[in-house]
Amino acid sequence: MSGIFEKDLEIWFVTGSQHLYGEAVLKTVDEHSAKIAAHLGASKAIPVKVVFKPVLTTPDAITTLCTEANASKKCVGIVAWMHTFSPARMWVNGLSILKKPLCHLHTQFNRDIPWATIDMDFMNLNQSAHGDREFGYAMSRMRLERKVVVGHWEDPEVAERIGVWTRAALGLYEFRNLKLCRFGDNMRYVAVTDGDKVEAAIRFGMNVNFHAVGDLVKVVNSISDAEAEKLCAEYEASYVMQPSLRKGGEKRASLVTAARIELGLRAFLEAGGYHAYTDTFEDLWGLAQLPGIASQRLMAQGYGFGAEGDWKQAAMVRVCKVMAQGIDKGTSFMEDYTYHLDPKGPMILGAHMLEVCPSIASAKPSCEIHPLGIGGKADPVRLVFSGKSGPAMAAALVDMGNRFRIVANAVEAVEPEQDLPKLPVSRILWKPLPDLKKGAAAWIYAGGGHHTAFSYSVTAEHLEDFASMAGVELVTIDGATDVAALRSQLRWNEAYYGLKGIF
Ligand code: MN
Repeated sequence: MSGIFEKDLEIWFVTGSQHLYGEAVLKTVDEHSAKIAAHLGASKAIPVKVVFKPVLTTPDAITTLCTEANASKKCVGIVAWMHTFSPARMWVNGLSILKKPLCHLHTQFNRDIPWATIDMDFMNLNQSAHGDREFGYAMSRMRLERKVVVGHWEDPEVAERIGVWTRAALGLYEFRNLKLCRFGDNMRYVAVTDGDKVEAAIRFGMNVNFHAVGDLVKVVNSISDAEAEKLCAEYEASYVMQPSLRKGGEKRASLVTAARIELGLRAFLEAGGYHAYTDTFEDLWGLAQLPGIASQRLMAQGYGFGAEGDWKQAAMVRVCKVMAQGIDKGTSFMEDYTYHLDPKGPMILGAHMLEVCPSIASAKPSCEIHPLGIGGKADPVRLVFSGKSGPAMAAALVDMGNRFRIVANAVEAVEPEQDLPKLPVSRILWKPLPDLKKGAAAWIYAGGGHHTAFSYSVTAEHLEDFASMAGVELVTIDGATDVAALRSQLRWNEAYYGLKGIF
């Protein structure tokens, strides 16, 4: 991944106690907590630094810690644990102002009960079984969103669960800091790609900014032939080149133009601090081609992208790439394009006019040029490949008018059984869970659009943690989905989010 991800982010490991037990016990609590924090920090499952914080025993110390977490540019969330009993009313002030995600680790320093030696000193020190219940009550009483992870701290599953939550927290951090660039508006008359940008700023912190395509064209035109040719050489080293695009080939000039567009786009995004962008084939003033290979390669470098002005999906692609950083098996902008309705194995063929990220390719992409058929511009260069097989997640952010909703569908991607020799775009075939009829019906009832962020690495748990901390509704469609129950869930959610707006 490119350098556009933030470095040096951290989570804070915080332990609660009280002064009832004396200094010796608190010193031991501190030592144990430091050991747990170091253990979690060493886990590959947790992608950021774990910072140990000294044990908290007073309301003032707790409130100060929460204030510091809010102000910290590095802290993306807090993991809290009550080694001993920590009266939770001490936590109410701090938690009521805490703006960072919270993970409640329900663990115990000693894994086993020392049957032969257990005495009241052991009991006084190892109290999380009831100390964490007190803490949990206060958060439930406050209606605080948080993740609860249960298990001994050396159990690898504990680090994995905290790791997933940390990745979701990185996603939220990115949402709160995201600058998203829109070249042109969204496609005329299209409903689902539109949305409330002010609400997105209020809810998520992101800023969605418009730029005239002509401003981008100026930057694209400033790229020299030599720079564009240098990038063409990189294309040649990375992809199977269609003969007409090779040096001396009849379409070589189109490749140079495509490379110039990529370099111009990247320069424009870098100058503006943008991590995601949209374009639209309806507004390409002065651009020779609809960006194809440019958008594909920028996605592969970590940028979020949405076609036809779909800024919500550009944000989702970016956030999924951030959540999956370092472990990404492929994440792309995607569109449910056409169906295979054979009753023996109904499937969805996903594709787009051009813009599918090569991170999901099953083999070396082929660099090709073909007519687009819409937009009235020169033939665009694109990478053509089939997507790989495996479990994946398709997720769409939609604007429901009074709130945002993420609709997610767990899918099984499969290699196409036959070649598609006439299809000049990248494609991927998948079976939605629980099956196409139920999955598509559930998706449509939930208002999920045709554009998605499609990821082999982002799971239902990442999205659940992300939605919880972002305060956004999540409707997940998976192997257990019952359409009637999902329709009820959608109706109940209307009441829940309606009431939430009142309280
Ligand atoms: Mn589209």
